[in-house]
Amino acid sequence: MKNISAKPDSPFYHKWKISLGAKFAALVAFILVITMGTVATYNYRIENSLSLESLYSKGRILGKFIASVSPQPILSYDFSTLNDYVKKASHKEDIIYAVILSPDNDNLTSYLNHDNGYIHSAIEKPGQYTISDIVNLVNQDKSVIRMTFPIILEDQNLGMVEIGISRERIDSLSRKQLLKLLFWNVIIIIFLDICIYIIFRRSTLQPIRELIQGSDRVARGDLEHKVAVGASDELGTLTISFNEMIGKLNTSTREKDQALTELQELNKTLEFHVEKRTQELKSANKALKHIALHDELTGLPNRSLIFDRLIQAIRMSIRRQEPFTIMMMDLDRFKDVNDTLGHDVGDELLKDVGTRLKNSLRHIDTVGRLGGDEFAIILPGVGEEYAITVANKLVHIFNEPFEQNGISLSIGTSIGIAIFPQHGDDTLTLLKRADVAMYVAKNDNCGYFVYDVAEDKHSTQRLALMGDLRNAIQNDELVLHYQPIIELSSGNIIRAEALVRWIHPVRGLISPVDFIPLMEQTGFINMLSQWVLNSAFRQQELMSSSGYKIGLAVNLSIYNLKDPEFAEKLFELLESNKKHLGNLVLEVTESAVMADSDYVTNTISRLKKMKVKISIDDFGIGYSSLSRLKKLPVSEVKIDKSFVTGMLTNKDDAVIVKSTIDLAHNLGLKVVAEGVENQESMDILIALGCDMAQGIHIAAPLEIEQFFDFVTKIQSSKRKSQI
Ligand code: C2E
Ligand code: CA
Ligand code: CA
Repeated sequence: MKNISAKPDSPFYHKWKISLGAKFAALVAFILVITMGTVATYNYRIENSLSLESLYSKGRILGKFIASVSPQPILSYDFSTLNDYVKKASHKEDIIYAVILSPDNDNLTSYLNHDNGYIHSAIEKPGQYTISDIVNLVNQDKSVIRMTFPIILEDQNLGMVEIGISRERIDSLSRKQLLKLLFWNVIIIIFLDICIYIIFRRSTLQPIRELIQGSDRVARGDLEHKVAVGASDELGTLTISFNEMIGKLNTSTREKDQALTELQELNKTLEFHVEKRTQELKSANKALKHIALHDELTGLPNRSLIFDRLIQAIRMSIRRQEPFTIMMMDLDRFKDVNDTLGHDVGDELLKDVGTRLKNSLRHIDTVGRLGGDEFAIILPGVGEEYAITVANKLVHIFNEPFEQNGISLSIGTSIGIAIFPQHGDDTLTLLKRADVAMYVAKNDNCGYFVYDVAEDKHSTQRLALMGDLRNAIQNDELVLHYQPIIELSSGNIIRAEALVRWIHPVRGLISPVDFIPLMEQTGFINMLSQWVLNSAFRQQELMSSSGYKIGLAVNLSIYNLKDPEFAEKLFELLESNKKHLGNLVLEVTESAVMADSDYVTNTISRLKKMKVKISIDDFGIGYSSLSRLKKLPVSEVKIDKSFVTGMLTNKDDAVIVKSTIDLAHNLGLKVVAEGVENQESMDILIALGCDMAQGIHIAAPLEIEQFFDFVTKIQSSKRKSQI
């Protein structure tokens, strides 16, 4: 809002600052001067013309009188009388001269009043003057009134009387009068002006001044002040309006102030929110950056950041002329934890692993998660020797079990090590080679492995195998071997486990350990399982037609059980081989059975209804929950061969074997021990009450013909011993 006390910007304002009172007084004075001046002038004119008129009539009277008395002396040539007349006339007030002229304009008189100022000054002018000359000179003066009167006697022109009258006295009298008048006028004007000014000041200026003072106070912010209302004239009305206006202004200012305060409050709140929002955005941005470069679950650097750090490590190593190490590691049996205990436990485990890794490394080292259970570690400035020390340390930290939900989880790890620059000088090569080394470490179950070119060839072969898998079934390259399973109490062969082999046209016999994971990865596993089941049923047919009462065990992958499409195919297949179902055992790993999936549970229940037995394979290495095991419709557990082979030398393994047998029996399940490699193991198992056994001590997996030979041999030796 514009400051109402501010003076106008016009430069004239200061230059011509004349008060309203002065202007008014000047105006009044001007009007009075004009009015009274006009009146005075008018008076002067009237006065003057009246005086002139009296002068004229004086002249006329005198002239006419002389003209009336002059005929006689003219006719009698009595010039002295005529001179007397003019002399008397010439001494009258205002009369300058009087002359009597003949009709021929000759002077009949000779008297001139030499005392008269006009005559005197005319005579004083140089030259010889006649009366006529003197009269003419006098007449040239503008203040001289020349009047002529004919002298007529009975219509006879006898001449004329000429009188010169001075208007000087009259004019000066009038001027004096006028000056006097003007003097008084001025006095009156001053007096009137002062009176009018005083009245004007009281009636007008005072209220205006108060209004101005009021405005000034308003301008200074005093909106409470009220200007006293004087007379009930326009100024009074203006004062009332002014007071009302200030009142309204006061109210609106208060409202405005209030609104302003509210606005300021709002502004503050807004600023606060904006600031808060900015902070939130900043943190969101930071968080986004973090998310983009970090693994959401563990908070560790993700694949992108690991690549970035690798690039930095390469640059640094080149600059400092020193090596660095990249490690790739994954967790052994992590999949089992995930499948049996659920993803939440799996997630927590990954976090714990991340924390343990970080805590056991230097702050300049990078621990990142590549995905799944795969981690990468970058050790700047570290060569092969120290890398092995670190790898040993890392393997060691996994010896301590991870506590999750009250369960103690023993997790192993396989670490692949690649060193810059000897194993590669770019990120991809280094990562690929660390991966190859990790694969070897996993396969050989040796904890860690430093990259070796020879092993890389192996891994290349692995990739090539993937391509060949597609045709393996169609080309009839797969065969089944059968490994007998005996009943420990009787020594009878009660079942054979079908174990697949791949006779590769170039590479020869390939172990299922090498191609089953590939099949699981590529989705060929469904096809394989169907093929195995079909072949097994045909084998079953053959055996029963040959009079052997031997059951068959077929391995199923967890991927089969989780796939609804496969389950339908499986049921179709079982439906068309109904008569063999009582002799069929499906081996599924512990993690597959424990998978917290209704679908898997339903499938297993349906299989049980069809009299197909379910055996939990590799029991003991996973994390079975006892309560879940109870609910599942499984028939038996197969103790993992690692415990069976280890039980002779390792107390823990022996405890596991014993407690598994007891536990299974308590739950009404049969127990199979696999990996029985010697009689000693056999004896212990018999002593522990194990139901069945399988292993190379009894027989290795055999080709079908050998298997038949074996069965025949066993049966005939049994018969012999019975005889
Ligand atoms: P698995 O089901 O645990 O099979 C038993 C493995 O132990 C077989 O290895 C067998 O040759 C081996 N074995 C037998 N006796 C002994 C012994 O006394 N000591 C030791 N240390 N090992 C013994 P194989 O045939 O190489 O099979 C390896 C794995 O491949 C199997 O383990 C199974 O998980 C998988 N597999 C084999 N055939 C199939 C199949 O047809 N379908 C599926 N899904 N998996 C299969
Ligand atoms: Ca098996
Ligand atoms: Ca097994």
